[in-house]
Amino acid sequence: MTIIPDLSDLVIEQVSMTNVVTITVRAASPTAPCPCCGTISKRIQSRYTRTLRDLPASGRPVHLVVHVRRFFCQESSCVRKIFAERFPALTLPRVKFTLRLQEALREMGFEQGGEAGARLGKKLSYPGSPDTILRLVKGAELPPASAPRVVGLDDWSWKRRLRYGTLICDLESHHPIDVLADRAVETVSAWFQKHPSVEIVSRDRSSQYAAAIKKGAPQAIEVADRWHVGKNLAESVQTLLARCRAEIRHALQVQVIPEQEPEETESVLEEEKRPARSRREEQARLARRAQKLDRYQQVLELRDQGLTAADIGSRIGISGRTVQRWLAHGSFPEARRRRRRPSLIDPYERYVLQWWQEGNRNGLQLYRALRAQGYKGSSKAMYRYLERLRTPQRPPLGVTPSQPQRPKSILASPAPLENFSAQRATWLFVCQPDELDETQHHELTLIRQASPSAEAAYRLAHAFLQMMREHTGHQLDVWLSEAEASHLPEFQSFAKGIQQDKAAVLAGLTLPWSNGPLEGHVNRLKLLKRSMYGRAKLPLLRARVLHVDGSAQPSHADLRAAG
Ligand SMILES: [Zn+2]
Repeated sequence: MTIIPDLSDLVIEQVSMTNVVTITVRAASPTAPCPCCGTISKRIQSRYTRTLRDLPASGRPVHLVVHVRRFFCQESSCVRKIFAERFPALTLPRVKFTLRLQEALREMGFEQGGEAGARLGKKLSYPGSPDTILRLVKGAELPPASAPRVVGLDDWSWKRRLRYGTLICDLESHHPIDVLADRAVETVSAWFQKHPSVEIVSRDRSSQYAAAIKKGAPQAIEVADRWHVGKNLAESVQTLLARCRAEIRHALQVQVIPEQEPEETESVLEEEKRPARSRREEQARLARRAQKLDRYQQVLELRDQGLTAADIGSRIGISGRTVQRWLAHGSFPEARRRRRRPSLIDPYERYVLQWWQEGNRNGLQLYRALRAQGYKGSSKAMYRYLERLRTPQRPPLGVTPSQPQRPKSILASPAPLENFSAQRATWLFVCQPDELDETQHHELTLIRQASPSAEAAYRLAHAFLQMMREHTGHQLDVWLSEAEASHLPEFQSFAKGIQQDKAAVLAGLTLPWSNGPLEGHVNRLKLLKRSMYGRAKLPLLRARVLHVDGSAQPSHADLRAAG
């Protein structure tokens, strides 16, 4: 009989099958030990039945009806006069589920969370409310504390990019070892003070983590994660390519329209030098604008050749509707602050701004305070408003570019790189050359030939990527002086950022450690958080993240296949 737990001390008295499988069982032994004193008793006082839910059988719910006996304790000094017999291999006292059903529900909880776990369970005939499942997850034992030597830190967004938590992984075992409520210096450094075994820490480029490590683990070597460094490099390349779009495109058209000069974007760049919160952000914004301006000029050129909006769109690689909108606009469509509809939060704007400027970031508290003042909007609308405070929109540009000149020359066929996009070209720039096909290779060559800036950027990017791949960090100083001497503002900023965090970047380019193993865990954490809706309180999230299930380990079959 495999549909009930394999228990030799139970006797099956009856099995009935309707929509529910009901199995009636009793203990095989005529006696039972007293749970207090352990004395074996055979004097029965009374009987009752207890119904337990068990794992479903072929999609049908299984009910175990257990005949339970009450015994007199035969030890006269025992405080228990009467006791009910127990079934420790089957379940715990006063619990309505068998142990193996509880185990299954707990696994569902770890994978799916309470709500989704209960929904899935219902479909598969597993009983268990969301609360029951969450209680089982919370009650699970966490893996024993370890003394990690090499750890990686990464952050993840708790709440709409307003609050961030920290995930810590053991980079030797690749297991998550802790989840912290935020990424503040105090929190993270306190964790390190409790884990003095740490020798090496891999982290992103944030100054908060750097400060926390210096404070809590001054003994540790900091490693700037290679992926994050590479991402910054790619961002620099993309900004440069967007800035140079006109230069690249016009160089390839030079035989057709020699009088065309890419002056306009340059002059705009000069005029637009206003103090910015972050130099990198400002560079990227201006580069995006330059790319868009060049696309706009291209639209006008092609329109003058008699092309339809749809044709123009498909040749340039933007939508026909965008082309129509631009042409209807009549002049270069500057990015503008989006007009906002009146919102229920408007009357509280001053209050919210003051609250924000005082350094408060607890959205829930703000929401409660606003409600108390009569705010009738949703918390979602409030968070949307807060997000705008976090990333302030720049005021509209004060400069309106002059009407672009329309070249009168007729271009019969599509020009090379008409649909140039900085984002796509960045990929050509950071890929290994042997990963590119012939067309991509051709495109890359054209870009490099067209623009000396692009060519210089390509050489610098590849030298850096090579250091990353080959762990040849000793070349970093040479590379930095080349970048600084390059006259490419994007690479000068990138080099400056590295100078400020040089020891860690050097370690990242030299040591084998990186945050690679964290990536999967951060994604899993995000999924877990989402699956818990509003219930994602830290202890529960932590229990689910740190739970290491059997399936995460390589099985023997996997190992055999690999070997
Ligand atoms: Zn007893």
